[in-house]
Amino acid sequence: MPNAIGTKANLVVTIPAYDGSITGGVMLAGHTDVVPVDGQSWSSDPFTAELREDRLYGRGTADMKAFTGVILALLPDFLSSPLATPLHLAWTYDEEVGCHGAVTLLADLDARGIHPDICVVGEPTSMRAVSAHKSSHLYRVSFTGLASHSSNTPNGVNAIEYAARAIAFIRSIADEHRLEGPFDASFEVPHSTVNVGTISGGVAVNTVADRCEFEFEFRAIPGVSPASIFSRIEDYVLEELRTEMRAENAAADVSFAPIGAVPALSAAGTGAALQLVHELTKTTSEETVGYGTEGGLFQLAGIDTVVCGPGSIRQAHTANEYIDLAQISACEDFMRALAVHIMQP
Ligand SMILES: [Zn+2]
Repeated sequence: MPNAIGTKANLVVTIPAYDGSITGGVMLAGHTDVVPVDGQSWSSDPFTAELREDRLYGRGTADMKAFTGVILALLPDFLSSPLATPLHLAWTYDEEVGCHGAVTLLADLDARGIHPDICVVGEPTSMRAVSAHKSSHLYRVSFTGLASHSSNTPNGVNAIEYAARAIAFIRSIADEHRLEGPFDASFEVPHSTVNVGTISGGVAVNTVADRCEFEFEFRAIPGVSPASIFSRIEDYVLEELRTEMRAENAAADVSFAPIGAVPALSAAGTGAALQLVHELTKTTSEETVGYGTEGGLFQLAGIDTVVCGPGSIRQAHTANEYIDLAQISACEDFMRALAVHIMQP
């Protein structure tokens, strides 16, 4: 299922149920992209899987190609006898840069009349059932001022100075959530967070900066409205800062561009999926994670979703990323149990 311009694609396989039906059933979801290795020091080629001391090393081993590899290797198990309900394999593109593939995946499945009942997202949870994570929302803010020789500052509009005030305001929102909540003790960081991650602007120290851009993200605990956090930032920047900028020069401007958003996964929305994962892993624990996944989008689309996959998030995105072979075995056990579970009795 290619994207609109045909440069990337989601890969989707549906194994129909014994009666030919293709809707309902279980979806196993993962992303095919990985984060870059630029600037990282690896002791082996990151894009050649290498076995050393009961670990498989390589970019994506933990996040999350071991999961997809196990499923593909065990496809014969899933095909060995008719299934009671369909099985869907959904591999998405561009997860790491904002879950863009999952958005088009849901639309494409919908257009084909496919609506899975349950989804397991195989992000690295050490094969533990994760039923909740925060939402995450990424934005770029661009300030356009007016350049001038710095000996005549009133002639220009300093984009960096206005951006700095916006950043200070964003930090005050972060402090508010850190000090006053709302809190959810099930998360390692028990409150919503806000972070400015990049900034660039200006051309020379003796020139009033006509341009400054920064990127920020916030992660809201389930139950906190992301729109309420964003609108406070937007209101301050557009109503206070932009008004002041335009009082200096009418051509000045500020704009927001969304980079990506992942809705929260809420424990309140998991039922049958959590039960299934508990049954297949023979565990009863239910955890939260700090990172976002495509699971939030799937849950929002009405698919009962749990995150459960092999490997540890601690190794994800790092140099010398690896997965313990024991984790791959545990994932194999899970998939074999799933194959038995969804076979027609
Ligand atoms: Zn991942």
